[in-house]
Amino acid sequence: MTAETVVGRVAAARHRITVRGVVQGVGFRPFVARLAHELGLVGFCGNDEVSVFVEVEGAPAALAEFARRLRADAPPLAVVVDVTVAPAAPRGDDEFRIVDSLHRPGARTLVPPDVGICTDCARELADPADRRYRHPFVNCTNCGPRYTVITDLPYDRPSTTMARFPMCARCAREYADPGNRRYHAQPICCPDCGPRIFAEADGRRIGGDDAVLERVQREITDGGIVAVKGIGGFHLVCDATDPGAVSRLRARKQRPAKPFAVMAADLGAARTICEIDAAETDALTSPARPIVLLRSRSGSGVATGIAPGLDELGVLLPYAPLHHLLFAPVPGSAVRPPRLLVMTSGNLGGEPLCFDNDEARERLAGIADVFLLHDRDIAVPCEDSVLTVVDGTAAPIRRSRGYAPLPVLLDRPGPTVLAVGAEVKNTFCLTRQDFAFCSAHLGDMGSLESRLAFDRSVSRLSALQDVRPDLVVADDHPGYSTRSWAEDFGERTDTELITVQHHHAHVAALAAEHRLVGTPLLGIAFDGTGYGCDRTVWGGEFLTIGEELLDARRAGHLQPFALPGGDVAVRNPARVALALLRAAGIDTATDLPCVRALPANERGLVTAQLDTGLGCVRTTSVGRLFDGVASILGVRHRVSYEAQAAVELEALARTAAAPAELPMPVADGEIRLAELMGGLVDGVRAGTAPAELAFGFHCALAAATAALATDIADRAGVGVVGLTGGVFQNRLLTALVRVRLEDAGLRVLTHHVVPPNDGGLSLGQAALGLATLARRARTDPISEVPR
Ligand SMILES: [Zn+2]
Ligand SMILES: [Zn+2]
Repeated sequence: MTAETVVGRVAAARHRITVRGVVQGVGFRPFVARLAHELGLVGFCGNDEVSVFVEVEGAPAALAEFARRLRADAPPLAVVVDVTVAPAAPRGDDEFRIVDSLHRPGARTLVPPDVGICTDCARELADPADRRYRHPFVNCTNCGPRYTVITDLPYDRPSTTMARFPMCARCAREYADPGNRRYHAQPICCPDCGPRIFAEADGRRIGGDDAVLERVQREITDGGIVAVKGIGGFHLVCDATDPGAVSRLRARKQRPAKPFAVMAADLGAARTICEIDAAETDALTSPARPIVLLRSRSGSGVATGIAPGLDELGVLLPYAPLHHLLFAPVPGSAVRPPRLLVMTSGNLGGEPLCFDNDEARERLAGIADVFLLHDRDIAVPCEDSVLTVVDGTAAPIRRSRGYAPLPVLLDRPGPTVLAVGAEVKNTFCLTRQDFAFCSAHLGDMGSLESRLAFDRSVSRLSALQDVRPDLVVADDHPGYSTRSWAEDFGERTDTELITVQHHHAHVAALAAEHRLVGTPLLGIAFDGTGYGCDRTVWGGEFLTIGEELLDARRAGHLQPFALPGGDVAVRNPARVALALLRAAGIDTATDLPCVRALPANERGLVTAQLDTGLGCVRTTSVGRLFDGVASILGVRHRVSYEAQAAVELEALARTAAAPAELPMPVADGEIRLAELMGGLVDGVRAGTAPAELAFGFHCALAAATAALATDIADRAGVGVVGLTGGVFQNRLLTALVRVRLEDAGLRVLTHHVVPPNDGGLSLGQAALGLATLARRARTDPISEVPR
């Protein structure tokens, strides 16, 4: 302090600060100016395409405070991606000013994500004296659709799907008034100039906002199913307290058991069905308004068919004005509005989300009784995001609306890489400089519609970012349609293609989101499936990564076992159970429920497959281990959605008071299975409660995982262990593994930005692509620099 003090005043220092992220149209520059004034600092700030640049001068302590609050107190909608501070020579300005925007050729603005309705707009929506009373499209600078209405950059009204709705004089005045909450709110509109809602039922069109809403509410009350066009696409909606409606929806959507999300009218309604702590409340009410997985309350009145066999419920709050109107009484109507609605994606199982009126009319015709439509186009579909809160921090399960297309910041700028992701829960990733843009959730690539949606999304994001890939990255799996798309794209555009191993990409995704590329670490990738380097199915992998992200070594894994019938076994955990028991020498035990669950002919077939090895693949999949254990414990023998047996097993384990003691030794870099199978079978025969065995299995697997990991970490000399892959969505297992690793003095990484499941894979593939190009540039400096 004294060193900086001259006689009579504190010496001034000057900082040049760059703030990158979504910092335009969110009141960031006025905020910077206010903060500078408050702290007695002079200088200036301005915008360029992706950043706010600031120069501030004043007392060092005030500068430090300024840098801290720049991040901590940023306006609610600003998304600060990073802040860099560099010293500069003091210039002795006499005030703080906002200066003109800079335009740099080739720079692209960041596309903001969609934002849930703000409290001001919600108040106007409910205020009969306001001119936007009950207007289904009310929005302002602080809220509303963004990503889903943008057709081009820069983000201006003509480059949105609002272009066809010319502003009325009053809206135009608000739009142009810097003192108004709607100053430069691109989707601004009102009942005079905005889009309209309408309904269609029995081939008849219904107009008039209140008539439409009354018809829809009556349909819901009567147990019907309504297709509702929202912000990022269609939802299928019914009364969440009506078991008949829920089972009708399941039958028509061909989705027998996979849980549905519930939209609650407000936080109070959400609390009647779930336990919600402070961090979960923050997540539910955050501008992204994701679906949050919450502990369900028993006897809450929600139909049990919504999440059969589970102790959690995916809950979200209204995020579009139209959602609020669904829950509000229609003036003059006798219909009582709902409090809890099923809100599930508007598609048929396995198909992509519908987001266009005609498409919905066609594809949802057999599902919805009534359509609630509007005439604002959705430029790009975007499903609801899903997250869970672990130890007070959000852990994403599906990163989509509200987050996409915000970039993940990479540790250094690089060429442009397009990573095409996995086959299920697909996202792709496109890099530009040090930004990695991960797409919204695209889902399973099994259908033609999905692949067309993928193609459209890639073209759109490339156009928005104005880039062409230097390299395309796909999974090693020869059967992935994303890989064949990448091969075709590579040929069409003369772009080089590389493929990477599935679990290597999972670990790379974790390293990338933590900006730890370059730090040696041990990645534990547990999931259902992944093409292994030895052409077997991997999924229980311990990979050590060197200072080079590309240098990965398989240092351990689950003991391999035979999977009879490959994909058929995935749908039939009882077959997996039989394979596991057989490997442990206990396969003929017909007293066991999992063996009896297979009819004699099926048992014969599976046994023959296991005997001859015909139709069997070797696997180290922890996902399949969960399936097999679930069947052995009688939890589930057949599944109708991915990971059903595993999530039910976890739910059961959480009900146990204490874990059963089960052995699961580690030897020669393998987690062994025979002892575990013996222990489980003994427990079942002894009548031990399935919940205790389920909990015991989680504990045994966690102990074995931690034992093998600490051994590998010791030998490799690494202090960081990452947990990735879909199995680590299991919060019980993750917590058990984490505590053991931390007790051993290791730093544990889990996912907070992209999901641990295949939805996060594309980020890791992109990181591996960039590492490939970087290594080439280093070792082969004469080679041609990528375009
Ligand atoms: Zn608003
Ligand atoms: Zn207007």
